[in-house]
Amino acid sequence: MTEAYQPETLAVRAGRVQSQFNEHSEAMFLTSSFTFDSAEQAAKRFIGEEPGNIYARFTNPTVTMFEERLAALEGAEQCVATASGMSAILAACMGLLKAGDHIVASQSLFGSTVNLFNNVLKKFGVETTFVSATDVAQWQAAIQPNTKLFFLETPSNPLTEISDIAAITAVAKSCGALLAVDNCFCTPILQRPLELGADIIIHSATKYIDGQGRVLGGAVLGSKKLMEPVYGFLRTTGPTMSAFNAWVFLKGLETLKIRMDAHSANSLELAQWLEQQPNVSRVFYPGLPSHPQHKLAMQQQKTGGGIVAFEVKGGKQAAWRVIDNTKMLSITANLGDTKTTITHPATTTHARISPEARAAAGITDGLIRIAVGLEAPIDVQNDLAHGL
Ligand SMILES: *Cc1c(COP(=O)(O)O)cnc(C)c1O
Repeated sequence: MTEAYQPETLAVRAGRVQSQFNEHSEAMFLTSSFTFDSAEQAAKRFIGEEPGNIYARFTNPTVTMFEERLAALEGAEQCVATASGMSAILAACMGLLKAGDHIVASQSLFGSTVNLFNNVLKKFGVETTFVSATDVAQWQAAIQPNTKLFFLETPSNPLTEISDIAAITAVAKSCGALLAVDNCFCTPILQRPLELGADIIIHSATKYIDGQGRVLGGAVLGSKKLMEPVYGFLRTTGPTMSAFNAWVFLKGLETLKIRMDAHSANSLELAQWLEQQPNVSRVFYPGLPSHPQHKLAMQQQKTGGGIVAFEVKGGKQAAWRVIDNTKMLSITANLGDTKTTITHPATTTHARISPEARAAAGITDGLIRIAVGLEAPIDVQNDLAHGL
């Protein structure tokens, strides 16, 4: 597959390989190891003189198909698939950093990513400074002589803050650091960070790439040179993607474009409706002109995406009333599913951070996050209206 194909085409065709049986749909290769024609071939494979499969901790054809398809969509030279989004971030850090290195990261990151930086990497001598997702000057000011990695997520969860990827790339380049972007919320259908200058892309495939809430997986993407140590870490330590999960994700990618378009259209409709509700004090959605970074969002992403947050008047009690009076929406912290989910960030995803830090981050007690699914928008509105 060449770059000349459109994303919709790459999503259904890139990376496909056929076995001797000429199957049309991609096959699932449930095998942990592969055989060789001769002792000589085995030897050549093991020392890397001949390409080919050896063992599923290293490679598996179904996983390779997924990697090539996602790489084509992101415009990346190489993709390394992992067991989860968190193991993608771990593999990227373990492959590219060493003791004594420093990370500058957005303070608006997925909670487990913050824990990974603060509690796991720190034990191995990697320190992190957290800065505002939106204030580029803070990224500049946080640079140290040992800064090796910038890390951000845009739009952020749950407030949908937009980080300026091109501007933060320029700051990273000025000190020789790499920029990694967690592109989970947008997927390559809505945003292609490598084109804006980022060096590394992280995915939790668990979310929109699966799209139906079935399996966990992740990916790291970038140049061949950068992915070599990331792959090396995985090959040695084993948080690799299973063939079954890769097969689910391959099929997920085939419908990603039409799903992201539908998630986006439904989200915009919901956000506009929420803005008109008397008990809603504020709506956070990058596709709304009222979003503080609407213009930047519309330059950087194709649509506002599938996540809408809003604040109800009356704090926690009022927010819980809205959640508890829904009859259809799923009360869960997951996102990127066909089914719309509703979350109270202050008491779930962000409960473990201090009330002061939560307030500083703008996550108020009245805040509700909706990951908009594929149901009819009117049914989602009616369900929210019960408690509003
Ligand atoms: C869910 C999520 C992750 C972690 O992915 P898992 O597949 O759950 O390990 C990382 N980043 C973002 C933005 C996420 O939403």
